[in-house]
Amino acid sequence: MNLQPYIEKRDFTKTTEPVAGTSTNKNNLVFVVQKHAASHLHYDFRLEMDGVLKSWAIPKGPSTDPKAKHLAMMVEDHPFDYRNFEGNIPHGEYGGGTVIVWDQGTYEPIEPIEGKTAREKALLKQLSTGSIKIKLHGQKLNGEFALVKTHGMGENDWLLIKHNDQFASANDITLQDRSVISHKNLEEMAISADNVWNHDSKLHV
Ligand code: MN
Repeated sequence: MNLQPYIEKRDFTKTTEPVAGTSTNKNNLVFVVQKHAASHLHYDFRLEMDGVLKSWAIPKGPSTDPKAKHLAMMVEDHPFDYRNFEGNIPHGEYGGGTVIVWDQGTYEPIEPIEGKTAREKALLKQLSTGSIKIKLHGQKLNGEFALVKTHGMGENDWLLIKHNDQFASANDITLQDRSVISHKNLEEMAISADNVWNHDSKLHV
């Protein structure tokens, strides 16, 4: 785990984004997908691993269609508390714009493995080989997905691909555009001042 790049990019006297965080869940790994209207709209796909959130920015967002291979650019590790973050990052700051928690839940490797520690170890190995096969248990996203590092594209370029299972669908899942925490869409979050994460009291809803 390395949060230094995350910390160096941000001025915590200006942004209310989380600085740290530790999981208290002994049994399950969590995932979160945030919808982020920054200079370009994108979705941030984050998987708990090694005490932090391994993170990929997906310009088109996740898809439940196995035929869609959406680019997922690996970005810096984010602190565990980021999984709850939604609100506004000040204009001019890194990632300035509005964030909602678009989906959240638990996840596990597809290959059945008992215990959080053993699962995490297997996932870290998959991460290092550039091919992560996971099962999501979210409110919007469910079932099997692969995150695969591309060859011949950019160094941090991966693809997010839905496996063909009972949760596969050609319907556009991103049409469900509300937060699973506040139930606001990005536009409503942008104009609200009452739903902002802060360092002392976590999320105020
Ligand atoms: Mn982002």
